[in-house]
Amino acid sequence: MAVKIKFLGGAKTVTGSSHLVTAGKTEILLDAGLFQGHRDAFYTVNTTFNYNPRTINAMVLSHAHIDHCGNIPNLIKKGLRCKIYATAATKDLANLMLIDSGKIQEEDVRYVNKINKRLGLALRKPLYTAKEASRATKIFRSISYNQKFCIARDICATITDAGHILGSGIIILDIKDGERSLRLGYAVDLGRRDLPLLNDPVIPKGLDYLIMESTYGGRSHRPIDEAQSKLREAVSRAIRRGGKVLIPAFTLERTQEVVYFLGELLKEKLIPSVPIYVDSPLATDITDLFEYHMDSLNDKTRQAFSRGDNPFELLNLRFIREQKDSKALNIDRRPMIIIAGSGMCESGRMLHHLQNNIEDSRNMILVVGYMARDTLGRRIVEKLPFVRIFGVEYELNAEVVVINAFSGHADQGELLEFVTGSLPLKKIFLVHGEPDQSQALYDILNQKGLDVSIPDKDEEVLLK
Ligand SMILES: [Zn+2]
Ligand SMILES: [Zn+2]
Repeated sequence: MAVKIKFLGGAKTVTGSSHLVTAGKTEILLDAGLFQGHRDAFYTVNTTFNYNPRTINAMVLSHAHIDHCGNIPNLIKKGLRCKIYATAATKDLANLMLIDSGKIQEEDVRYVNKINKRLGLALRKPLYTAKEASRATKIFRSISYNQKFCIARDICATITDAGHILGSGIIILDIKDGERSLRLGYAVDLGRRDLPLLNDPVIPKGLDYLIMESTYGGRSHRPIDEAQSKLREAVSRAIRRGGKVLIPAFTLERTQEVVYFLGELLKEKLIPSVPIYVDSPLATDITDLFEYHMDSLNDKTRQAFSRGDNPFELLNLRFIREQKDSKALNIDRRPMIIIAGSGMCESGRMLHHLQNNIEDSRNMILVVGYMARDTLGRRIVEKLPFVRIFGVEYELNAEVVVINAFSGHADQGELLEFVTGSLPLKKIFLVHGEPDQSQALYDILNQKGLDVSIPDKDEEVLLK
């Protein structure tokens, strides 16, 4: 039987990961992520499928980031009826992330339609609503790490720990084809060693083919310990001059890592004791889930929970759900640390904190995550003298500090190590990367005599 991979999304770009593996008549979908881009591209790309969702036999989901699971509710609307296999943590997290994604889309459509109505333009609809998203996880099936499960005759799968976010997995497909057996690995996204809360990625053995991310294919990260020392220096400096520290952070994982590090620093009295606010209902819900998914946590964190020493319960720390409590921070002039959703400063509560604090040079904007091109976050990182927030121009006087050591993705050295550990490999497909990053990794792997390719979107490859 012919075994093929079709690279549906996340090919030559970072978002929208989705790949179709066909073995004879069986169709298996690996991830169904949202492509994230400007409004028109967002709707066009996420609603154009070069396959039939109705005929998919099974889906395996690597993790709950929206660029990997965000298009599932839309696929269900288009007829996807198969089971979706994922770890229990991924299932719980995906439920929160998808409902939030539905909410964001509904809000965005409401905003655009107000303008469209005035201009006499056609009204838009969200890809899916929060209500539609809430039904998606009903077809999920929870799988433990390293538990081999069969998803079709002759096709079994295993999820091993990817060490990227809570519940994240490397997917391994074992396909039997008469005498021949074929092992395909899917490491998208791949984490890194020594992350504060998680286990290290597990390197699968004996792969024939590997689909691997290349977000940082051309870069080396600073060690994660450096994140903590940089955090200490920056936070202390801003607090000493009476400023507020704004930390825009992704709600899933980065927020919990930052809280964990701040907690360690507070315990050791290495930073001044000031109030810390996690201003995001979603981050609050996500943080609550960590305690229930211990299999994804490293020994140190697991032991801390077991002795009742929850790393997310600090005296100074408050999780904010209500909008009014979030707004109340604007009139509170004390030095404080505010961690809020919207990693790239494009929406959410971080915007009003920026609006209120960006012009005061005592304050600090502490960047701990990736800021894509054409986002407010990137303009802040570039330290433009003026930035627009809610259509109004503000002087960027607050100090901007970027800490690059926080990353949940393997860097070039770690990606190479992963490949070496997975040998023998017939071929490696590099996905989930901007072209320059994928190319840098391609060149190195190629020099080592490995067969590598950077597939195009919708390219189909036969596995021999
Ligand atoms: Zn991810
Ligand atoms: Zn990703």
